[in-house]
Amino acid sequence: MEYAYHVGECPVCKDWGLMEVLYNFEGSRCSIMCEECLLEFDTLIDFLECKNGYRKTYEKAVARLATLEEIAITEWHPYLMESNRIL
Ligand SMILES: [Zn+2]
Repeated sequence: MEYAYHVGECPVCKDWGLMEVLYNFEGSRCSIMCEECLLEFDTLIDFLECKNGYRKTYEKAVARLATLEEIAITEWHPYLMESNRIL
């Protein structure tokens, strides 16, 4: 069973798309990506200011959904939403 953790709504899709937290194998870092339009942000400040967003194809070889333990040590943790989706 896999969980998707979200930190808010996509600035493009609004309430239609949620930003889910990804774990990137390269650099062992977390980023967020809209589950609908694939808009991605690397850092919290970029997301809050809606800058430096980009789109790339979600490749399982380079990233996967982050676990709660991985998110807990990142800047995204305080922004986690209550509802998480079970895939
Ligand atoms: Zn979106």
